[in-house]
Parts: sequence; structure tokens; C-alpha cells
Amino acid sequence: MLAIFRWHCKYIWRPIDMDREQQMTNNSNLVGRFAPSPSGRMHLGNIYAALMSYASVKSRGGRWLLRIEDLDKSRCKREYAEQIIDDLRWLGLVPDLGASASTDDSAYYQSNRDEVYNEYFEQLRKRGLLYECFCRRNEINVASAPHASDGHVVYGGTCRILTEAQRNELRNERKPCWRIRMPDEVDEFTDGKYGLQRENLATDRGDFIVRRADGNFSYNLAVVVDDALMGVTEVVRGCDLLTVSHEQRYIYKNIGYKAPHYCHFPLLLSTNGSRLSKRDHSLALDVLRTHYSPEDVIGMIAWLVDLQPSNQRMTAQKFVQAFDWQKIPQNDIVVNIDV
Ligand code: GLU
Repeated sequence: MLAIFRWHCKYIWRPIDMDREQQMTNNSNLVGRFAPSPSGRMHLGNIYAALMSYASVKSRGGRWLLRIEDLDKSRCKREYAEQIIDDLRWLGLVPDLGASASTDDSAYYQSNRDEVYNEYFEQLRKRGLLYECFCRRNEINVASAPHASDGHVVYGGTCRILTEAQRNELRNERKPCWRIRMPDEVDEFTDGKYGLQRENLATDRGDFIVRRADGNFSYNLAVVVDDALMGVTEVVRGCDLLTVSHEQRYIYKNIGYKAPHYCHFPLLLSTNGSRLSKRDHSLALDVLRTHYSPEDVIGMIAWLVDLQPSNQRMTAQKFVQAFDWQKIPQNDIVVNIDV
């Protein structure tokens, strides 16, 4: 049995009208992507994310790219990535580009792309946009106030003003991470679902990490470099990443690429109000694949997001045909599933 409730999404939105004509036009220059992290088996929330990015771009004749975001080598595993590809195939979601779309797809695994990220990191560093930060996480939390709208912690800028002598001294004590300087200016863009987004880069977002102290590049840097180089024209993902788009747009601007169109969707939440996660075992794909067909799962999601009035089975192809951004609700959706 599946029960759904609606919750208010914490973001303020201004809905915009998507041009239906434009939605249906074939355009192979459009590239959408799904970028999962292979840190476990997919669950209903991941399938929903995959379907939304797939249907959004496919409904306009574009191509769908799969990128495996296995930057965090300690948590991600190759076998999980292979399982994701198999689960997507089971659902009928076959990528046109990227991982699994060709025999040599290694360039679509972030774990193989450090050299590429390093090139852009160096580009930003040489332009004086980056600085070393020696602060520990607990020091940052004490020194900074969470940003009012989403609890995001704005870095206070302690290490922005260090002298070279101070830096030298600190380098003997600990390894620094690298942050990008955010200017005191407003960034504005129109999200396809949540409308006008406006934040001050310095005071609302703050200097953020592009390379961690362990040498790994951050999600924000890698995702932008990849989306830019892979020709991604639209980024469709959960609305928990709506505000981080400002940081990502700032990187786009500074590596000389045009930012993609963003379209965020409401989250699926578990009954305790948290985002669906791997802890919701009953919603993991191994359980779902035992009890349901792909059409059951896709139909359920279509119903949850108002693409059909009742819980009827649906193929991926039918989901694409039924897809309409205007019907997708803006409020997060609580899912109570009993398999
Ligand atoms: N790997 C990220 C995730 O799984 C992707 C985020 C994005 O779509 O930008 O949350």
C-alpha cells in the first residue's frame, strides 16, 4: 500500500510557465544528465531523480547522459556503479551518452578524472581566485552563523586574509583545503520549476571548498567541470541542490562556460520527514525488484508527482509522454510504502 502526503518545500518559489511548444520540439543539442554516487543500492528517490532527468530531456527530443560520481573513493564502489546501470536498464532507462553508452566509458567515472579537475583548479588558482584554508570544521561552525533560509553555513573568511608567513607556519601543523573567494555581488537565475533565484555570493553563500585537505576535488568543482565539458545543457535534480546552483554558476563563469538551464524538483521524503535514503530499506531496488515490475515502480512515481491521477502501471516511454513540468508539484512529497 502506498500513502502520500504533501509537505511544504522550504524554498520560496515563483512558478514560471514553461512553453509547451518548446517542450515538445526535437532537439538533439539538448543534453540532460543523471549523476548518481555509487555508495549503495539505488532506492525509490534515486529512481525518481533518474526518471525526472530522463523524461525532462527526452520529452524534448534531447539526449540523456549517465555520469558516475564516485569522487569519494572511500564510499563509492565499482560494483554499485554496475548495479546502478543494471537497475536503470531494468527500468528501461538507457543512456545515450556516458557510462555504459560505449565500450570505453571510463571518462564518465569521476574517479578517473582528477587530471581534468586539476587543470581547472590550477586555472582558478593562477588567477588568484583560490586560497588555502586551515580552519577545522568545528572552528567554522562556531565562527559562522547559519544562513537564514536553508541553514547553510557561510564561511567567515578567517583564512582569506592570512599573510604568507602565517600560511607557512600553519602548513607545518595541518594540511589546508582550498576555497574560492566569492565576490560581494548578487547572482540571479530562473529555475525552471522554482522561478527566480537570487542570492548574494559573499553573504548568502560564502567562500566554498573546491579541493579538500585530503587532495580530493569537491563535488562543486567536479560537477561543473564535467557538466561543462560533457555538453550538458540542462541540470534536473532535487530541490535540496537549488541554492548550491549559485556556487556552481560562479565556477562556470570563471572557467569560461555558460551555465546550463536548471530545473529542480521536489524531494521524496520518508514518513519521519527526512529525505529518502539508503536507510529506507523497503524502498531499495533489491526489495522493489522482488515485489514490483518496472511499470509498477514508474507508475507509482508518476502518480506521486501528479503525472497521472491514480496509481496505474506505466512504462518509461509512457512516463516521457506524460511528462509535463507544469504538473510536477513544488512541495516535497512524503512517501509511505509498505511492500
Ligand atoms: N552525485 C550527486 C548526487 O547524487 C549529483 C548531484 C547533482 O545532480 O548535481 O546527489
